[in-house]
Amino acid sequence: MTHRALWQQYQWALKRQRRAGWAVQNAVAAGLLPSLRNGTVPCKDCGKPAQAYDHRDYRKPLMVEPVCHGCNAKRGPAQDLGPIRQKWWRAEQADQLLCEIQAAEADLAALKASLTPDEFALHQRAYAPYLAHLQQQAQRNLTQEQPMP
Ligand SMILES: [Zn+2]
Repeated sequence: MTHRALWQQYQWALKRQRRAGWAVQNAVAAGLLPSLRNGTVPCKDCGKPAQAYDHRDYRKPLMVEPVCHGCNAKRGPAQDLGPIRQKWWRAEQADQLLCEIQAAEADLAALKASLTPDEFALHQRAYAPYLAHLQQQAQRNLTQEQPMP
C-alpha cells in the first residue's frame, strides 16, 4: 500500500475513534452507560476507580470497558487503530530517510565540479557508509514490524 493510502486509512481510523468517543459520551448522557465522574465504577483490570471507557475496536463504539488511566495505557491502542498507525508511521519514517538520502546524494553531486577527481572519490567513499546506513534503516522501516518509540 502506498504511503498516501496508509495515511488516508489512518485518518479514517482516527475519525472512527472520535465518533466512538462521542457515542460513549452520548450513551453516558442518555443513561445507557454509568457515568465515571463520581469514582464508584471500578476499573475492569485493577479495581481502582475507573476514569475512562476503553475501546478494543472502534467499529463497535459501545463495546467498552471502564478502566483507570494506568490500565488504559497498558492495554494499548484498539485493534483497528494500532496496526494502521504503526504501518503509516513506518512508511513515514522510510520516506523521510529516502529524502535524506536524496539530499545527501545531491550534496555529493554538487561537489563534483569544485573537486579534483581524487578529492571527489574520497568524498564518495566517505559518504558511502552513511548512505548505506540510511538505506538499511529505510528498508527496515518498510519491511519489519518496527515499534514506534
Ligand atoms: Zn486499572
